[in-house]
Amino acid sequence: MSEIKKKRVLSGNRPTGPSHLGHLFGVHDFWVSLQDKYDCFFFIADYHALTTSYDKVEMIQDNIREVTLDLLGAGLDPKKSTIFLQSDIPEVAELNLLISMVTPMGLLERNPTYKAQMQELNIKKPNLGLFQYPVIQTVDIVIYKGEYVPVGKDQLPHVWIAADIAKTFRHRYGDIFPIPEELVGEFPNVPGSDNRKMSKSYGNTIDVRDDEETTFKKIKKFYTDPEKIRIDDPGHPDGCPIFYFHTMVSGKEHCDNVKSECESGKRGCVQCKSEMCENLNNHLKPIRERRTEFARNPDEVDKILLEGGLKAREEAQKTVQAARKAMGLTERSRLIQTPTIKYKFIK
Ligand code: SF4
Repeated sequence: MSEIKKKRVLSGNRPTGPSHLGHLFGVHDFWVSLQDKYDCFFFIADYHALTTSYDKVEMIQDNIREVTLDLLGAGLDPKKSTIFLQSDIPEVAELNLLISMVTPMGLLERNPTYKAQMQELNIKKPNLGLFQYPVIQTVDIVIYKGEYVPVGKDQLPHVWIAADIAKTFRHRYGDIFPIPEELVGEFPNVPGSDNRKMSKSYGNTIDVRDDEETTFKKIKKFYTDPEKIRIDDPGHPDGCPIFYFHTMVSGKEHCDNVKSECESGKRGCVQCKSEMCENLNNHLKPIRERRTEFARNPDEVDKILLEGGLKAREEAQKTVQAARKAMGLTERSRLIQTPTIKYKFIK
């Protein structure tokens, strides 16, 4: 009996900082859950990191290693998923140029995330790379013939813009790649220590690589319901980040208990934080152990990226070849031998 071909999923992670628990619970867990059902391609988006951090190349280099370890620690399995580094596939740059020929400027100018990102990162003079970010994002998907892109609801416009650009290209040059669709997950909006969304730019994170003690110290400083000063004050767990974490790591029965004790003034915040932190550390234990194990074996991590890169590149070359042909370009680049991918960044 012939095997049913799995649909292809594609997504990337920018190496602009170590992954925090917002990434882990919000994104990486979702990716891990897709591995058995889909043919998954996940990449470390270092080209994307350069759009905002082109002056911090060492930071990007360090974080390529850290984020790769975070993904492997979270449970991405190289036997099931293709894991690779974006810039190891030079065809991405070539297809980016080709697709930019048919991308309307107006589409990029209307991109809602462009202005939001400039504001969030306080960028006064945006570069062309950042402006045409949606084009690289489209290329990242279509070059591997990605059919689904896992996103949270707030990132839906990314996929819609990519689909628009892909449609424009296909309309003119034919059916070279599928039009990507979104795969919307239950991306939780994980709160940070100040109860805003957990984000490196707010300085309110717990990183995946933090040890148990650091996690405990950070949790101790977390915001709690300001109206609950004494133990017997009735609290409001629904607006409390500690309760949010309980819902992710403590199990339903315990959460119901926390909620009712908090609301009826039978629970103190110190005890509540310490219980939650213990559950959180238990939840993170196997993830941290896996991460540490991979960190001890840099050659193995290099090999995972190398093998992933070779597989991804083979796919990319086919797409670019088809796009070049459709656009009337010669096949001369196929005659040039490209160098073997080498890795130096794992320290
Ligand atoms: S008791 Fe727990 S849930 Fe209630 S406010 Fe304090 S930390 Fe939050």
